[in-house]
Amino acid sequence: MSNKEIDLGLTFDNSYFDKLEGFYVACSGAKAPDPKLIKLNGALANRVGLTNADPTSLAQVLSGTIAPSGSSPLAQVYAGHQFGGFSPQLGDGRALLLGEVLDKDGIRLDIQLKGSGRTPFSRGGDGKAVLGAVLREYIVSEAMFALDIPTTRALAVVTSGESVMRSQYLPGAVLTRVASSHLRVGTFQFFASRGENDKVKQLADYAIARHYPKVEESEQRYLDFLCAVRDKQAELVAKWLLVGFIHGVMNTDNMTISGETIDYGPCAFMDDYGSDTVFSSIDRDGRYSYNNQPVMAQWDLARLAETLLPLIHDDQDEAIALATTAVTGFWEVFQQHWTAGMRRKLGLSDQEEGDFALGEQLLESMSGEEVDFTQLFRQLALDLQSGSHESQKLFNNADKFLVWKEEWETRLAKESLTVSKRIEMMNSANPIYIPRNHQVERAIEAAEMRGDYQPFEQLLAVLATPFTLQKEAQEYAEPAPADFGPYTTFCGT
Ligand code: AMP
Ligand code: MG
Repeated sequence: MSNKEIDLGLTFDNSYFDKLEGFYVACSGAKAPDPKLIKLNGALANRVGLTNADPTSLAQVLSGTIAPSGSSPLAQVYAGHQFGGFSPQLGDGRALLLGEVLDKDGIRLDIQLKGSGRTPFSRGGDGKAVLGAVLREYIVSEAMFALDIPTTRALAVVTSGESVMRSQYLPGAVLTRVASSHLRVGTFQFFASRGENDKVKQLADYAIARHYPKVEESEQRYLDFLCAVRDKQAELVAKWLLVGFIHGVMNTDNMTISGETIDYGPCAFMDDYGSDTVFSSIDRDGRYSYNNQPVMAQWDLARLAETLLPLIHDDQDEAIALATTAVTGFWEVFQQHWTAGMRRKLGLSDQEEGDFALGEQLLESMSGEEVDFTQLFRQLALDLQSGSHESQKLFNNADKFLVWKEEWETRLAKESLTVSKRIEMMNSANPIYIPRNHQVERAIEAAEMRGDYQPFEQLLAVLATPFTLQKEAQEYAEPAPADFGPYTTFCGT
């Protein structure tokens, strides 16, 4: 061990560094003037084998100031379609992959710093992140994990001790992120756009071995790989929609090959249901609006498919036909997952032809009625339990909803499930607590303005068990007060 390194107890096994030369640039983090550990995710630290609990060592390493023993820090290169326009050269401009570890189940995990300084891919950026955005990613990604939605995780927050210029000077911070990998659609696009098909193949083989070993033996492994990524993404986006999550920046550089949610920049959960809800300041055309997310996921997958064409079949027309069928199949897989999830939300145990339409009809009845998405689903179970009719009070005009409710009740009556089992099913699918925008902002403001991390910690604690009613947590189940106003989010802060 070099004495310039610090041992955190992590046992690195750096396959990306070892096997994919030419897919990254080795580099190191910037020295933080006064790094301080703000938060360590104890359970996740345990999972990745981080045993050094010394806050000073953790702050040094997790700010990027000193490398951990066994790491091979690097910035990954990638390209990406951003809002439909192709950027051939992106890459980790403010992130540093320290390396990989294997958890107790042998699952390989990336450990990455975000905001640790400039890299060769920073272009005009400063390579930094600010505390507010880091806390936001911590809160929302950990909430997603608790909601059983595939996601990158948050391991730690360190403040750097420097001010970072955004619209004003803000406290700088670094997030330590854990992910199944950081392979993106954009990683494939970088090499495909340069005509480096041997590299695309190398990358596909690496991705297959790491994420989809089942297709390894297949005779049409690259087509099966495409289908496997499609299936994961279809399931992911269905899960987003079922909890009212809007990612906000579904560019191809932000779509993982693993099927995990990544890049928590402008994302937000909606309070009132609206199919065209958008929060991101730059998404003026609603490209990444709530309801457009499956369409955009499919669009991103088509970009992945393009990169794989030469591997799918020697004959280009044949390759295009096969890839088109694969990408077109997205919709059916998405519908299956969405309908299965909606059944659970509505307490339906049997499968019927009209279930997709029943779910859609409910959403349609909510449209324009200022109904809180999360509260409504939870209230449906409460109504069943107590025989009350409170759910309709959440609507301005409940006419359409009442028509829907009758249909739903007719459907329920056909099933043999007991009421208690039905309620159990609904309550395990419908969260009480989601990261409400006003609560996230409150936590960030207290930390940024007053160095008070209590609201952040409280919010994290509530969101860790989102399906369970918690004492004195009612305020976290409430939508934003009227004076919170319209909510806008920003990229890359
Ligand atoms: P994002 O919008 O976070 O997905 O980032 C898009 C691209 O911009 C990625 O290549 C990032 O690494 C890069 N980027 C974002 N913020 C910064 C920054 N402050 N400094 C350098 N690069 C950045
Ligand atoms: Mg990104």
